[in-house]
Amino acid sequence: MLDLIEKLFPICRSITGDGVRETLAIINEVIPVEVSEIPTGTRVFDWEVPREWNVREAYIENSAGERIVDFEDHNLHLMSYSAPIRRQMRLNELKEHLHSLPGHPKLIPYRTSYYDDNWGFCLSHDQLEALEDDTYNVVIDATLEPGHLTYGECLIPGASDEEILVSTHICHPSLCNDNLSGIAVTSHLAKQLLQQENRYSYRFLFVPVTIGAISWLASNEERLDRIRYGLVASNLGNDAKFTYKKTRTGSSSIDHAVMYALETAGVEHEIRGFLPYGYDERQYGSPGIGLDVGSLSRTPYGEYPEYHTSADNLSLVSEEKLEEALSVYARVFETLEDARYFLNRAPKGEPQLGRRGLYKRIGGQTNQAEQQMAILWLLNKSDGQHNLLDIARLSGMSEDILSAAAKLLVEQELLETL
Ligand code: ZN
Repeated sequence: MLDLIEKLFPICRSITGDGVRETLAIINEVIPVEVSEIPTGTRVFDWEVPREWNVREAYIENSAGERIVDFEDHNLHLMSYSAPIRRQMRLNELKEHLHSLPGHPKLIPYRTSYYDDNWGFCLSHDQLEALEDDTYNVVIDATLEPGHLTYGECLIPGASDEEILVSTHICHPSLCNDNLSGIAVTSHLAKQLLQQENRYSYRFLFVPVTIGAISWLASNEERLDRIRYGLVASNLGNDAKFTYKKTRTGSSSIDHAVMYALETAGVEHEIRGFLPYGYDERQYGSPGIGLDVGSLSRTPYGEYPEYHTSADNLSLVSEEKLEEALSVYARVFETLEDARYFLNRAPKGEPQLGRRGLYKRIGGQTNQAEQQMAILWLLNKSDGQHNLLDIARLSGMSEDILSAAAKLLVEQELLETL
């Protein structure tokens, strides 16, 4: 995963443009990615697909001809979606277009100007303070013209047409935790799921934030009823505890599955309620869409000092933390895969277990009392309304023990798999 992040790190991405295409082509080396291109001007719900932005070069040159700020050195130096310009100006005029972080004077901030015509450069506050009164030559050789918005998806068909959505954003330039960690974990998660048999189908989306998710939703509206649950993945590579932000209803099976997976994985975590702010869970959970999509990250959006600065670089993320996040995600989906619904076929009174040799068979197991309780919980709650995960929550027993007991009960025709 770290190799993939290193490969993707230098690319200048934005909500449109060749950086997104190049990124999807690199993800396609890990998993098959189907790429869609939505033309500029396409109406997508209340939005319109913007013009496409591509940059050849951008720099600020002093009167001695030295490039003092150069996009070539760091792509954060150029405000994303800056309009083209080639003009000389004095420092006081230039300063209106310079962005820095006085509180973190060594870092370059990440700034965007997606939906209004503007231009700007970002630099460390130390460098800004050191600028002399001079005539500067400002060059942004970029195009902002009709083109396309690009996104990618990877569908992994399972036994059922019902889908689990995993969405991550692909629109940030050289930023590691906010953006690339999500790409690394989700593409490797998809690679794992491709190598195994799954009950659910899984759809992985690689979309520019907001407008990409809205474009995908608008293009797939008639197919959304197939989506049962979803997660938005981001900020997964830094050294911090996990944070789960629940779905809009807060009571979906995906909420229960994530909480169960975090608890059984024994990792430090925090659970938060839904908030209509953050990443694309806002779009998936908008009232007219209403998908059960939560957000599983480490430190959330905007809550770490390196966020949206040049300090969100390769030193902030580690293979160990990415691997841990990958295993938590895999555990969430295992939990959902195991969360089957069963129906008790002898629901009037308790069925006579001894006659069926169930006690005897249970006696051979390591924990007889626990297995017996698992059988009783399964028989009582398998009314078609509670899945295995619900029964795990109600009983406090693990899904593994309940799963093993359910297998015995299905063999004895006391439970039917729905
Ligand atoms: Zn961001």
